[in-house]
Amino acid sequence: MVGGGQLARMTAQAGVAMGQTLRVLAAARTDPAARVTPDVVLGDPDDGGALRELATGCSAVTFDHEGVPQEVLAPLAAAGVPLRPSPEALVHAQDKLVMRRRLAALGLPVPAFTGITGPEQVAEFGAAQGWPVVLKAVRGGYDGRGVWFLRDGGPETGALVADLLAAGTPLMVESAVPMVRELAASVARSPFGQAAAWPVVETLQVDGQCARVTAPAPGLDADAAARIQGLAIRIAEELGVTGLMTVELFETADGGVVVNELAMRPHNSGHWTIEGSVTSQFAQHLRAVLDYPLGSTAPVAPVAVMANVLGAAEEPAMSMDERLHHCFARFPDAHVHLYAKDGRPARKIGHVTVLGSDEPAVRERAELAATWLATATWTDGWSAHGPADRDPREDS
Ligand code: ADP
Repeated sequence: MVGGGQLARMTAQAGVAMGQTLRVLAAARTDPAARVTPDVVLGDPDDGGALRELATGCSAVTFDHEGVPQEVLAPLAAAGVPLRPSPEALVHAQDKLVMRRRLAALGLPVPAFTGITGPEQVAEFGAAQGWPVVLKAVRGGYDGRGVWFLRDGGPETGALVADLLAAGTPLMVESAVPMVRELAASVARSPFGQAAAWPVVETLQVDGQCARVTAPAPGLDADAAARIQGLAIRIAEELGVTGLMTVELFETADGGVVVNELAMRPHNSGHWTIEGSVTSQFAQHLRAVLDYPLGSTAPVAPVAVMANVLGAAEEPAMSMDERLHHCFARFPDAHVHLYAKDGRPARKIGHVTVLGSDEPAVRERAELAATWLATATWTDGWSAHGPADRDPREDS
């Protein structure tokens, strides 16, 4: 797997049960995945030599991020390296403009969009389609970096676009979708052509980054869910995806959906499947890229909520070890995953999944646990020693 982040770490974990060892291409020995597999190649994802070393003797080469340039992938594919997904499929997760054009050509629902080569085009697009609009870096954005909401075509917009273009950032612009919420649909597809879809989930973004996932998406009716799963499987088939693919979607007030973007790898919106589904997204990704029959995607509980542990603005004085201790004490049913990353502000350093049947209660437990792990604060005021032990001065 190219990349040594938490997605590779959790894929390695799933590989253990299959008797597989995941070799990773990592930037450093301290990367989350490099800490858990003995088979580490150190190098950069845009270094063809490092990728050849990674691929030698592997049954399949796959990715934990989209950051391998097509120029690096092409010679590997030409040399017969089994890349899953193929570069032809992966480009749709690397280049938002290529993806928008392809999905539009397939007649699938996408926002109005256009490529941008000069500041005046943004103003023209906004005048024609209506403001606000969303300006996006065509390549290289993640977690909301590379996305700008623009209210009008005034001088600030012109200056931003001119600066970005001068810095060599390829740009596109699209209509801001008036959405009621964000959804995600994950599927796996094998080279043999088998495909499997998990229940459609609701994702909550905070500051452009995923904070919480609820599976299945509350209130989504069965017909709409089946249509969205069918849409995701159709995209995987049309693009020839092998491995995992997540379709990020916006739900509109009329109950329809618009595709936001595609990811071709395990995805944050699928972490709940580790405990919440018969087959986790990580095990399924390995099955798919190794061309095994796919596993059941059935949920094992009525509701699963996953909350990300996001690095606090200020690192708490309490150690993570002690925070974990208290978290386990309060929530014996919480499934905690820590990625062994330093807690920089807003960085994804872990996640918590809680299963159950009452959605608000499950959500509350997952969020309390995740916020506690990040900040060493119980946001509901809970005290390990109970109210009686509390120093009354704490309340004043
Ligand atoms: P990234 O690749 O950084 O994840 P996205 O394209 O997914 O960027 O955008 C990040 C977030 O910005 C989305 O999750 C959504 O909340 C918001 N967003 C992106 N595009 C639009 C749009 N066309 N209309 C409304 N909101 C959008």
